[in-house]
Amino acid sequence: MIFDYIVVGKGMMGSAAAKYLSGSKKKVAVIGPDENIDNNKAVVFSSHYDQARIQRIIGHDDVWTLLNLQSAQQYNFIENQSNISFHTPKGCLYVNPEGMDVYLNEIKKSENLFNLKYTFFENSKALQNAFPDFHFPPSSKAIFEDAPSGYINPQLLIKAQLILFKKNNGIIINNIANEITYEKNFLQIKTLDKKIYQAKKVLLCPGAFINFFNLTKNKLALSLKSETIIWANVSKQEAIRLSNLPSLIYEIKIPEYKNVYLIQPVMYPDGNYYLKMGCNLPSDRFFDNLTDIQNWFRNGASDDNLEILKDALLKILPGIKIKKIFTKRCIVSYTKHRKPYIGALNNDGLFAACGGNGYSAMCSDALGKIAANLLIENNFLQGYSAQSFQPVFIND
Ligand SMILES: Cc1cc2nc3c(=O)[nH]c(=O)nc-3n(C[C@H](O)[C@H](O)[C@H](O)COP(=O)(O)OP(=O)(O)OC[C@H]3O[C@@H](n4cnc5c(N)ncnc54)[C@H](O)[C@@H]3O)c2cc1C
Repeated sequence: MIFDYIVVGKGMMGSAAAKYLSGSKKKVAVIGPDENIDNNKAVVFSSHYDQARIQRIIGHDDVWTLLNLQSAQQYNFIENQSNISFHTPKGCLYVNPEGMDVYLNEIKKSENLFNLKYTFFENSKALQNAFPDFHFPPSSKAIFEDAPSGYINPQLLIKAQLILFKKNNGIIINNIANEITYEKNFLQIKTLDKKIYQAKKVLLCPGAFINFFNLTKNKLALSLKSETIIWANVSKQEAIRLSNLPSLIYEIKIPEYKNVYLIQPVMYPDGNYYLKMGCNLPSDRFFDNLTDIQNWFRNGASDDNLEILKDALLKILPGIKIKKIFTKRCIVSYTKHRKPYIGALNNDGLFAACGGNGYSAMCSDALGKIAANLLIENNFLQGYSAQSFQPVFIND
């Protein structure tokens, strides 16, 4: 059978795009592996292997804001149709400990295009009154966005998207794509175990792995950065105590670490509660080959930063009672223009949606919709332009 559309990668963008493509009533498949919990056996990994991603609405510019807004507007529908609850709208707090920055200035100055509500905090005292568990320096300035900001469970969102995809007769192929070749009227995908699938158009959504198989001759200009996070295991009681804590984006910049993000304790599939925190670190690495990424996920030296991260957490949440704490490893893909790449990679029916820039879980639904519309209608949805998402190639 020749599919109309095949999506490669069933992560955040791929699952959303597959759902929207399947709404066209054409023959659609998505090819991607489930998470392999044995890192030594996994060939590819993902940027969504935990249970919490920050959801905010006001982004760094109107494009990000529209993406976030339109994604969040879909959550009720997706939750109802899939019977999966993945969205916890507890609000999101953005703090700069040094005072005003470009993001805060823009918000204050212009009252954003979308007339979104937020609360501005002039100093740490006002912040302390509103959020007594958090601790920030006196010079801090902040905004708080209420619901629908908060957090989403990325794995459950993917699961929900794929339920809707299957309801539309979409086919899920649990495999890894290894090579794409071109026949007269279709593209041919060979998987790692040498199975063959054919489609008129293919959308590549394999996240950080897009350049590492023979999927595209035109390699994309992506910076792939290691990301170290901590999971702080707390008791159920402590999780309940902290259950009104908003998600936090903390734009601290000190030599030891910068750009902290944190999400309240969430229950994981093992029944335990973990608060997740991450940041940029001086020892973060950039990757240019698959072996180094595999080694990073399997046994990277993330524990070298455990004490630094723990110290950062205790400065922000001095009263937190931690039972255990450990590091986890992830990867972030940055594009040249710092927006995801969504576009055609050639004139033969190959497209891509990738390059999340650390912000694309919260807006993955809209990104998937834009990509799907591009394959179906050959244009960009109203409110967006091709230029914003133009793929940039290494050789450009
Ligand atoms: C620690 C961490 C924290 C983050 N926090 C936030 C946050 O709070 N809010 C937010 O909005 N964003 C956050 N992000 C970013 C967000 O998770 C990513 O932008 C998002 O996951 C990107 O989606 P994607 O579909 O491009 O890639 P992924 O979600 O990584 O999905 C790619 C999928 O493709 C599969 N794949 C790879 N190669 C192949 C192949 N050859 N064949 C088939 N399948 C393949 C992978 O297995 C994976 O399932 C965070 C990222 C990290 C690492």
